[in-house]
Amino acid sequence: MRVTWSAGTTLTFRLDPEDEITGQASDEYPIKLATNSCSIGGVPGDAHPDLYAVASWTIVAPWTRRRITFDRAVSAELAQALHDGWGIEAGPVGAQPRRPGARLAISYSGGADSVAAATIFPEAPFVHFRRVAHPRVPNRWPHYRSDVLAKLAARTGRELSTVTSDLEYTLAEPRPGYPEHHAVAAGALLLADRLDLGGLGFGYEMGSRWLGGGRYLWRFTPDNPMWAPHGRWGRLFAAAGVHIVLPVGGVSEAVTMRLALGSPLREQVRWCLRGTDGPCRNCGKCLYKELIQAAVERRPLDTPITADRPVARKYLKKPPYGGQEMIQYGLARVPGIENTLFAPALDYFDVSEESTSWLDRCYPPALEEIPERWRAQAAAFMEENVGLMTEPEVRRVESWGSA
Ligand SMILES: [Zn+2]
Repeated sequence: MRVTWSAGTTLTFRLDPEDEITGQASDEYPIKLATNSCSIGGVPGDAHPDLYAVASWTIVAPWTRRRITFDRAVSAELAQALHDGWGIEAGPVGAQPRRPGARLAISYSGGADSVAAATIFPEAPFVHFRRVAHPRVPNRWPHYRSDVLAKLAARTGRELSTVTSDLEYTLAEPRPGYPEHHAVAAGALLLADRLDLGGLGFGYEMGSRWLGGGRYLWRFTPDNPMWAPHGRWGRLFAAAGVHIVLPVGGVSEAVTMRLALGSPLREQVRWCLRGTDGPCRNCGKCLYKELIQAAVERRPLDTPITADRPVARKYLKKPPYGGQEMIQYGLARVPGIENTLFAPALDYFDVSEESTSWLDRCYPPALEEIPERWRAQAAAFMEENVGLMTEPEVRRVESWGSA
């Protein structure tokens, strides 16, 4: 793979003979390449070469098989992190490593998880990724309202950098999206020198970090390759002086929902990518989040979605479900759930408030892996607003997915 940045903001990459246009993201999800260029706006025209290298890698990693050649020399440390993590030869080598900056920024999407992360660090600036059209790839997903999300981010009153990018259109399949989850940080990486960043906070919660949630494996994942500090991505970001920080990595989506709805940013919370004046209430994400919100607010489910809709059909089938721990939490807590589209799922679980109460507290090892500079603030917040898991609750996390 050969990567070139022109004007500091347009990335072009050329595949070597051994590279392929099909690949897998780090969570093993199969993806396919559409085009070999993209741009990032709202960033300075120069940054440390290691920042360019990591930003590139978030976009080209799935296609690269053996080596990557950058258009400027990177540090030996950065090349080593690529070699250790992926077995990739990276060069040319010759730059001094970047020293971590002093500040933590939040990679801010506006969803409940990232609002919760932001609430823990009220002084942290935001970097918001906004999708824009690609000059050569048609937009087949026009209902994605990135403009609405960007406006909401601007209303938070925080120091805000909005990064615009078409990098999601480098994917042909499954649809426009990040080649690696970390590509959401490409702009933040290129801003790291200007913002003096030493860490970047993501809204990934306990399900994503520790329970193999979403589209990953449904088991306890202490060595999660994407988000563990000692994983390959954690070490790569650290080599560029921008530590991955997960302020809400120890709490469930029930907790992030509760924190977000109680946050000063409450009015700007938006997890739905479709609605303009509010969430659309009709997509799969709205349904899933409504279950969690109803559970947190101890009220009946309020959704226009009926059981015959495609987004509801997965709950007629056997688990596992994405975010299964939250489905169980909702089944145990939402009044009248047996009369809703979630009723079939009740047959698969024997859940109670007691058996799901571990999802109301913080998993302490998640705090221990926050870099020391920011750990005390996150820990104090969790102790005051959430509470830490007991030993038996910790075991619920660590036995997740084993029979
Ligand atoms: Zn929606």
